[in-house]
Amino acid sequence: MMSCKDVSASVDSGQWETASWWRRLPVYFHLAMCRHCRAFRRYGRMMNNEAGRLGESFAAEPGPDFDTRLRTALETDPTLPG
Ligand SMILES: [Zn+2]
Repeated sequence: MMSCKDVSASVDSGQWETASWWRRLPVYFHLAMCRHCRAFRRYGRMMNNEAGRLGESFAAEPGPDFDTRLRTALETDPTLPG
């Protein structure tokens, strides 16, 4: 059986999902038996999804009212010196 370290490295790289079935099988077997590695895999997927969403938001152009919203937010922020 693969070690947790080996499985986490495989899962983290993401290359195991495109590997041949006989290379994926030990990873799936370990994931079926180890709740820690399943949690690590879930956490990695969540981080990848959030990073993708964040990247999309940076790539998008701000809306036409961006200047107004920014100015209003800065003028009404009580933590900023006036
Ligand atoms: Zn494990």
